Amino acid sequence: MKKVVKFGGSSLASAGQFKKVGDIIRADAARRYVVPSAPGKRFSADTKVTDMLYDCYRTAVAGKDFSQKLKNIKDRYQEIIDGLALNLSLEQEFDKIEEQFRAKAGEDYAASRGEYLNGIVMANYLGYTYIDAAEVIFFDENGNFLDEKTDEVLSHRLSEEEHAVIPGFYGSKPDGSVKTFSRGGSDITGSIVAKAVHADVYENWTDVSGFLVTDPKIVENPEVISTITYRELRELSYMGATVLHEDSIFPLRKEGIPIHVLNTNAPEDPGTMIVENTCSKPHFTITGIAGKKGFAAVTIEKSMMNTEIGFGRKVLQVFEENGISFEHTPSGIDTMTVFVHQKEFEEKEQSIIAGLHRAVQPDSIDLESDLALVAIVGRGMRRTRGTAGRIFSALAHAHVNVKMIDQGSSELNIIVGVENRDFEATIKAIYDIFVTAQL
Ligand code: ASP
Repeated sequence: MKKVVKFGGSSLASAGQFKKVGDIIRADAARRYVVPSAPGKRFSADTKVTDMLYDCYRTAVAGKDFSQKLKNIKDRYQEIIDGLALNLSLEQEFDKIEEQFRAKAGEDYAASRGEYLNGIVMANYLGYTYIDAAEVIFFDENGNFLDEKTDEVLSHRLSEEEHAVIPGFYGSKPDGSVKTFSRGGSDITGSIVAKAVHADVYENWTDVSGFLVTDPKIVENPEVISTITYRELRELSYMGATVLHEDSIFPLRKEGIPIHVLNTNAPEDPGTMIVENTCSKPHFTITGIAGKKGFAAVTIEKSMMNTEIGFGRKVLQVFEENGISFEHTPSGIDTMTVFVHQKEFEEKEQSIIAGLHRAVQPDSIDLESDLALVAIVGRGMRRTRGTAGRIFSALAHAHVNVKMIDQGSSELNIIVGVENRDFEATIKAIYDIFVTAQL
């Protein structure tokens, strides 16, 4: 059994957190490859080391004195090193960082040092081999991740190591310069390492006990999802639910390696398993609910639209030419509605209206703004009769007016469009009917 374990920033924010992580790793001999983030927040008003690094680097680039800012970062690591009583000095590393900041080595270089240094501390603490991610994770000159080259080099390198620490978040470009993934990207590094070593499971340790059925800011103490498929997760993350970086699924998708999301502060909690497929039935008919506010609906009306072949294409082409992506396109016999992100749309509004007039000569164009989309996701819906009925009766009882309904052909999700002001009530009502009522 081989496990890759990734620890998020809050799991490594202090010496106390490092000790918990050490206990977790030592509790299971299969936990052989460790991917750390940079130290995160110790308390809610604290600053993540990554943000301190960005800030410090910008000060350096502006030609101002950045010594105090760099010292504050150094102190964060020193506190951890002292708390763990390690025989380790990062003095030389910090001298080099200072030199590179003066030479304007780039924001990516600056941000990556958070993980780079934390990896050194972690390897020292565990007695594992340290592998700089710049030597095993590659991007092309345009900054696109090179999966095949990385997989080849990384799997070869790790085959020589029984245990190793590989810092998250970054790799290197052909000229040797550092390139980071987008924020939260250590999750992606964890997936890449899990793929390279053909891990049995990729454990992603964070500060929540798994993926919640819905947003805890809307529903108090929502249930934890015990098993979710990659596809369900993708639907929910697209609609704004976050625990894992969205791109961390891609390296694992074809490998069928499960991701286990676990809580460093409550390691005995079962967490959430993210799997390629499963015949385990979800506990509730639905797996999760997520949504976003801030959509607009553009409704184009033209009598006899149904006889005009190519009408839909011409409409969508206008959006395409204006660089606007669409979310949904519910239609009637003589109407077609295009759901778009309101902010993006507002910038191009007049050009799109003019474009639509030119392209399809509509009878009218109606605009409605301040709409929200809520996705109800679940592999269990395919086998269950009456899911849609229950959703709409719950919404009727909650006095929510449904503006749009879209059931994906995969029957994995039902999306409802409501007014922004009904967003929270919609999520609560759906949660209550499917989860609270079934507890
Ligand atoms: N430290 C980086 C960030 O704050 C990457 C990560 O934690 O995954 O975004």
